[in-house]
Amino acid sequence: MKRIIFEVILALALAGAGAFGWTSWKQNQSATGQITALKAASEAASKAAADKAATVKAAEEEMTALRAEMAPLEGQAQQLAAVKAAMANGTTLTDLEAAYKAQKKLSAERQVGLGAVRMLTKGADDPATLAAFRKALEMSELGDRKNTICAAQIGLAAAGEKVSILADCLPKGAKPEAAKGEKSEKAAPEEKAGEKDEHGKPGDKKSPEKHAVHWSYDGDMGPERWGKEFPTCAKGKSQSPLDIRGPFVKTRTVVTADYKEGPLKLLNNGHTIQVNANPGSKLRIDGVAYELLQFHFHRPSEEKIDGKPMAMVVHFVHKSAEGKLAVLGVLLKEGNENPGIKTLWTHMPLDEGPEVAPEGVSFNPGNLLPREFDFYSYEGSLTTPPCTEGVRFFILKSTVNVAKEQVAAFPFRRNARPVQEPNGREISTN
Ligand SMILES: [Zn+2]
Repeated sequence: MKRIIFEVILALALAGAGAFGWTSWKQNQSATGQITALKAASEAASKAAADKAATVKAAEEEMTALRAEMAPLEGQAQQLAAVKAAMANGTTLTDLEAAYKAQKKLSAERQVGLGAVRMLTKGADDPATLAAFRKALEMSELGDRKNTICAAQIGLAAAGEKVSILADCLPKGAKPEAAKGEKSEKAAPEEKAGEKDEHGKPGDKKSPEKHAVHWSYDGDMGPERWGKEFPTCAKGKSQSPLDIRGPFVKTRTVVTADYKEGPLKLLNNGHTIQVNANPGSKLRIDGVAYELLQFHFHRPSEEKIDGKPMAMVVHFVHKSAEGKLAVLGVLLKEGNENPGIKTLWTHMPLDEGPEVAPEGVSFNPGNLLPREFDFYSYEGSLTTPPCTEGVRFFILKSTVNVAKEQVAAFPFRRNARPVQEPNGREISTN
């Protein structure tokens, strides 16, 4: 079964590996079945040609047609050949890992690839294997890149880690009968964590999904416990959110938002309502562009000002070309109805599930911004697991309105992490 998991991971990883040096494998790797078939057809054609001059032309035509048909497949075939060869050959694997390592910055997809390679070279217990998958998960969660999230989750599960796997992560390539065949199947992602606990055999330790990590805002999996599975949440020294209070440091940083209207895409991820951004919306911090990835809501606001929370907050999550994260927080104050939120609430899924894109509905995230851009700023973290640090926060001083009924209609009663220790961090203001 492990082998199937590897194939799945590698296949997913390859989706993002196109630009990586797979082309250099071409010369060295053996031909795939499809290419072999092509060769066979070619030989058959030659033979036929020798036998009958009259058939030559027809065979040639057939070959040309076949080649044209094969052309787009060839690249994929080469990649698969490379993967298969890599799996069969330890030395190749080491080379491959070195090639991954040589890349300065790995995309989430390549992190998955690296994790898969390390799993093959060093085994599932190797900390580097887990680190690579975790990193991929962390990176991909920000942008809600489902394929990569799936690959990383399946990778972690295959390595024996406790992870929750998204319901729709079961890859189409995985044979259901193979999955059924093994009782302690580690990658059985269609079983949502928690739901099937009672049906599991007691003492069956090899089934991570039975103890899958589900974090929440209260109870056993509440914020106080996040650190058990996500160490940064507990050990980090620059965690968000903060209770914002003076004294403040004056900053000359200039922040502007340039958000564009585009088709509305949103989802209920079980923790919040998240709107995924279309490309082209940017936050500029001292002229440096940060691309808007998504925005989402917390009720009440996670940030407090002088100890007081607001009704809600919108977090706009951005990433620069260098991979730096910046969150713009807009506090929502109870008052008049907010027309932007009205649009979002009309189309938001009330139950957890994949992204939906209501037909013919477009949205401009700028509709949720106040006119004034005076802010508080500090160095913080993601406010949800894995609580990754190195996130610059800008909390706008101006609030926007939200009607009491709109707050009540938000499907999460409470999804705010408590304020964190400042640990000497300074809060600046413009
Ligand atoms: Zn948030």
